[in-house]
Amino acid sequence: MNKALRQAVIAGNWKMNKTRPEAKALIEELKPMVANAKVGVVICVPFTNLETALEATKGSNIKVGAENCHWAKSGAFTGEISAPMLAEMGVEYVVLGHSERRQYFGETDVTVNRRVRAALDAGLKPIICVGETLEHREANITEMVVGVQTKAALEGVTAEELKNIIIAYEPVWAIGTGKTATAEQANEVCKYVRDVVAKLYSKEAADGLTIQYGGSMNAKNAAELVAQPDVDGGLIGGASLKAPDFTEIVRAACQG
Ligand code: PEP
Repeated sequence: MNKALRQAVIAGNWKMNKTRPEAKALIEELKPMVANAKVGVVICVPFTNLETALEATKGSNIKVGAENCHWAKSGAFTGEISAPMLAEMGVEYVVLGHSERRQYFGETDVTVNRRVRAALDAGLKPIICVGETLEHREANITEMVVGVQTKAALEGVTAEELKNIIIAYEPVWAIGTGKTATAEQANEVCKYVRDVVAKLYSKEAADGLTIQYGGSMNAKNAAELVAQPDVDGGLIGGASLKAPDFTEIVRAACQG
């Protein structure tokens, strides 16, 4: 079974939520609840919470990620944070190309690729987000859009480097809207991304790639989504802010 060739990962994307004391409280609540998880557990937190999260997760199975990084190593980029700065702290993952970055902050396929390059060079593991808008889906160009985003993000990435990458398929119309893709829709596009990667690299590389679904995944719908053959866990926004909900999703993935 191909699913056994890769690790399922449940990653929380906290977005712009939680002060430091709130972050610490959530992590302390979460730690014992997910301690025995057989899947990867990651929390991607605001920059201001990274140190708190790294300290609070020490010795646990929870890995810490950032929500973005700049492509330059350092320099005159006021307000930005570089990949080496994150790596030096001990951060392991970084979300790149999230649709909110593309929508509100001018992120493009080209800048996503530059950030991917910078993250890999610094030793970080990128969680690359791809996904279509409702207009794209209604125009029947979902595969084209997601294919272009995937190829652009992976431009210049070697097969060896691909082992440190996660792709998150996140239909834009499902993020924070309460509208979830059906399990079939999620699997169909995750499988398509895997096929694109197989053509770019090899079947072996594609079989080993973790491809998550993200978009209003919650404690109730997670089991069906993560049980799909090409869905290897999820990127979780809203539901990652409540320890019992996030834990339920982790539990579903352990069975998926
Ligand atoms: C996300 O932010 O990546 C996400 C999937 O959000 P939500 O789960 O809230 O839809």
